[in-house]
Amino acid sequence: MKSPSPNKPLTLALSKGRIFDETLPLLEQAGIHVLERPESSRKLILPTSTPDLQLIIVRASDVPTYVQYGAAHIGIAGKDVLYEHMEQHPGGLYQPIDLNIARCRMCVAVEEGFDYHTAVKKGSRLRIATKYTRAAREHFASKGVYIDLIKLYGSMELAPLVGLADAIVDLVSTGSTLKANRLVEVEEITEISSRLIINQAAMKNRGAQLQPLIDAFMHASVEQTSA
Ligand code: ATP
Ligand code: MG
Repeated sequence: MKSPSPNKPLTLALSKGRIFDETLPLLEQAGIHVLERPESSRKLILPTSTPDLQLIIVRASDVPTYVQYGAAHIGIAGKDVLYEHMEQHPGGLYQPIDLNIARCRMCVAVEEGFDYHTAVKKGSRLRIATKYTRAAREHFASKGVYIDLIKLYGSMELAPLVGLADAIVDLVSTGSTLKANRLVEVEEITEISSRLIINQAAMKNRGAQLQPLIDAFMHASVEQTSA
């Protein structure tokens, strides 16, 4: 992975938490070691053992923005985040690889005892709280269900419990958060995993430098998936 470059280092944008944790083994497999942990370091720019590669740590939903504007050349973002981002910014990003990390599903959930399927059948208008407004709007439109959307930025699970919404659209992996809050999943919308994203101009200008990194991600994710 060593290709000395006269340019500024390549910059990979990541969020801390599960995406960072699940990306680390992929980088390690490519022989790239991250020299500090985002949890213990306050630094937002993390050097790696590869001198021409640095990481930046940003909010999960900001990753596509940094890559779109070329502030990072490459990034890793969930399909949930990408789908919402692309509504406002449809171009500018390549999404060449599904890394199969940070896997979960997007689903509709309601409070235990709420008869969702009957409400839908009767044509009731539903109040839906979510951070994923595009995905929710399109899901219910495709079912012909009328909804009022309430945009939230976190803790969607609370909304049905306090009467803010009839249902939520949220991400679920084990279901334990839903269960702890007496919510039940009533519909799956789509499966979610994270993708590698690349700034299109960077691919043109620095493709020779980016390609080995893309190939390394490709190999590492295939090996991890088949392991
Ligand atoms: P923040 O916590 O800063 O509000 P966030 O909730 O989007 O942002 P994370 O919880 O780190 O940040 O999630 C990052 C990505 O990981 C999501 O965009 C999604 O693709 C995936 N993800 C979210 N929740 C889960 C989950 N329960 N299991 C697996 N992957 C998940
Ligand atoms: Mg979260």
